[in-house]
Amino acid sequence: MSNDELYDALELTGKLMELHGENPFKTKAYTNASYKLSKLRYDFNGKSVADVEAIEGIGKGIAAKLVELLESGTTKELQTLLEKTPPGILDLFSVKGLGVKKVGQLWQELGIESIGELLYACNENRLVSLKGFGSKTQNSIREAIEFKLANTQKLHYATAEALVTPLLEALRTQAGLMVEVVGQVRRKCEVIDNILILSSAPITVDVKGLEANIPIPIEYHVCEPNAFYYQLVALTGHEAHLQQIGFNTLTTTSFPSELAVYEALNLQYPEPEIREGLQEISLMRKRQLPTLIELSDLKGVLHNHSTYSDGVHTLKEMGDYCQSLGYSYLGICDHSRSAGYAGGLSIDRVLEQQAEIDKLNAHYTDFVILKGIESDILSDGSLDYPEDVLKTFDFIVASVHSNLKMEEEKANVRLIKAIENPYTSILGHPTGRLLLARPGYPIHHQKIIDACAVNGVSIELNAHPYRLDIDWRWLYYCMEKGVKVGINPDAHHKEGFKDMYYGVCAARKGLLSKAHCLNALSLEELLKIV
Ligand SMILES: [Zn+2]
Ligand SMILES: [Zn+2]
Repeated sequence: MSNDELYDALELTGKLMELHGENPFKTKAYTNASYKLSKLRYDFNGKSVADVEAIEGIGKGIAAKLVELLESGTTKELQTLLEKTPPGILDLFSVKGLGVKKVGQLWQELGIESIGELLYACNENRLVSLKGFGSKTQNSIREAIEFKLANTQKLHYATAEALVTPLLEALRTQAGLMVEVVGQVRRKCEVIDNILILSSAPITVDVKGLEANIPIPIEYHVCEPNAFYYQLVALTGHEAHLQQIGFNTLTTTSFPSELAVYEALNLQYPEPEIREGLQEISLMRKRQLPTLIELSDLKGVLHNHSTYSDGVHTLKEMGDYCQSLGYSYLGICDHSRSAGYAGGLSIDRVLEQQAEIDKLNAHYTDFVILKGIESDILSDGSLDYPEDVLKTFDFIVASVHSNLKMEEEKANVRLIKAIENPYTSILGHPTGRLLLARPGYPIHHQKIIDACAVNGVSIELNAHPYRLDIDWRWLYYCMEKGVKVGINPDAHHKEGFKDMYYGVCAARKGLLSKAHCLNALSLEELLKIV
């Protein structure tokens, strides 16, 4: 062990002891010792406990730990502490501005166990409810994490798109250049780990400044202008797609368009985002690809929060803005009473909110706020209010927010019980995953979708770019089973409605058509179903 590793181990022991609420006096001894030793260039080689104890300010206990560290690379005490600490908590210590006390609050009070969960909680405005945190702290934590994430090797699609768009615009200023982003970005994959750009000539415009903003590898492919569309197909499709369409049987590389490439293979043209080598292939052969849903097909926005629970904007602000975007209905689904951390609504607050919605609706024309709730699915699968309250809602999104660590069997039982509840309209974010942060609890997708089909329940495609849950790979099965899919932004502020776009990207990847989308229905049609 190097001296630095020794000090780090001591420091970590001290932090973990503090986190787990151990004797503050003992805790301090570790942090002090680590600090003191880091200032000395002490040679620990071959030193005994007595030798180490002779260093000024190092007590016998710490000296023994140091020798144990030197001999075994760790201490029993540290191992025990690590075992009772979720590994992601250690990463939280590295976020600028987060001391042990704050990390402890985040973990104990909000159940946050990783950096990704923390970022999501910042975006959901969760931190402001904690003592000693305010919206300023929340913002600086968010910025620190975003900076940190930007230096890792994967990006959410939304982030990648925002970085690639200006780069492409700049490249397009080069005279006579044919240029397109290909690969994962063109397929709108939910997580991006590299950026591929195809161009018909070497790049001569200076884009170094824009490239410097992109923290993942960028690769340029240059081809002859007449081979551009051939290469566009070659570099956009997933390997499985190219293989199944028999791409390597083409006898020329010269095509006037992508359409012509697919025509040469006697296949219907697929939109770039569906070229994954899944259901699209047989549909292309039969020329039966569905018309993919578009953002403009959506008529309303379901599953949103307001200041009644953990949202930033009032009912009126959310309603006015939603209407200004051209939608004809807004579903407000604040958290239910068990979600204490998110300001879940007591029964009185539910009634108060519904009365306010009635008042607001009296002033709207061609627009309505629907009285919904995002009801927690409790551990036993039941919803969060008695029946006489449940029946007051226009619709109910049922979601799991607590006890996320479940075996698949338990998760299936819990979700299916909620799906069978006659008041459930939509199953919210079915796996609870946060992309690049946590995998979500395991579920048997087929069984869950089957249960939704039997009970006339719709499934949410949560449109937040960190969730995109249900995974788009299951949308085709939903369509086959006649289960409608709600593209829901789960907006916690007005700008959150814009995430519908990312939901539509994922929906298109899953071949979703307008006819299978819950919120592409008119208000009248929607109310018949939910
Ligand atoms: Zn939720
Ligand atoms: Zn929500």
